[in-house]
Amino acid sequence: MRRSGPWAWCGTATDSGVGVTVRMTAPEGFINQLFVATGNEAHLTTALPQAGPGQPSTLRQWAKREHFTSEEALYEKAGLQYIVPELREGLGEIELAAEHKIPILLQDSDLRGSLHNHSTYSDGSHSLRQMATFLRDAGYEYLGICDHSQAAHYANGLGPERVRQQQREIDELNAELAPFRIFKGIEADILGDGSLDYDEALRDSFDFIVASIHSNLKMDEARATERLLRAIANPHTTMLGHPTGRLLLRRAGYPIDFKAVIDACAQHQVIIEINANPWRLDLDWRWVRYALAQGVQLSINPDAHHTSGYADMRYGVLAGRKGMLTKKMTFNAKSVDEAAAYFAARKVKL
Ligand SMILES: [Zn+2]
Ligand SMILES: [Zn+2]
Repeated sequence: MRRSGPWAWCGTATDSGVGVTVRMTAPEGFINQLFVATGNEAHLTTALPQAGPGQPSTLRQWAKREHFTSEEALYEKAGLQYIVPELREGLGEIELAAEHKIPILLQDSDLRGSLHNHSTYSDGSHSLRQMATFLRDAGYEYLGICDHSQAAHYANGLGPERVRQQQREIDELNAELAPFRIFKGIEADILGDGSLDYDEALRDSFDFIVASIHSNLKMDEARATERLLRAIANPHTTMLGHPTGRLLLRRAGYPIDFKAVIDACAQHQVIIEINANPWRLDLDWRWVRYALAQGVQLSINPDAHHTSGYADMRYGVLAGRKGMLTKKMTFNAKSVDEAAAYFAARKVKL
């Protein structure tokens, strides 16, 4: 153990290799220590827009000046709206807080349904019925089932006959489980040239389509962006799935021009998913604010292949919150009737 300054710490490693730092502090210094250890350097040192003469000019200086009994009190003293820990990145949140313009962020309890999920029709572990009743029993209003399309052979993608079979089963289950509703979706592969899997007639049979890239991932930025832009411009595309294809700690994902892709989603009113699987978290939170500023709705999609996968939505909520995502801009915070009306209105335009 080393001792330095007002507290002591020991750096160690756990069995998993994740480093842990333990800090100790006198009780009266706890809040200040917690505060300083939470936000990044930019958050602590951004100049406070409304600091008066002789007043501390940064949050770090406030934390050095006096002991606080809550973080809320510290922000209030500094003339700021309270900033939740996940926003303390030095990315403009201080300026917004000075004007009390940080919105109320999305919460887990705001979500009313779950879109983009798989069943045993493709590569999921649970049947359509199991996926639906589990979600209903967890208090949600709707399920979007998005099994893989036929181009995804490796994932048991659905040919046209199996699509029709699944849609008949959905009709039966909807009659039985109402008011809970299953939306007929598909995770349609974006093919190499940017077109979508299936012919137009079959694509018309879905309530909504998540368009995703799963093959030929080795692309430069120009090619990947062009492929996505073509898919986004396709009127059958309701949502863009995992935009970069990254797998955190495993695979970087293909490079894309985020602004061009998000701008195109705004132009064509395509929803972007925050794929909530913790290996993906794709769209990355750093682009959420830009998407929101362009008026693009986001959807917290767990991409569940198992009933336990729905719980991943909480990671998507956390990622969205880091980008200041609100309930209003979250597609699956809509009620079942609102979601149904949205899908129906889009289909009319086809
Ligand atoms: Zn996918
Ligand atoms: Zn999927």
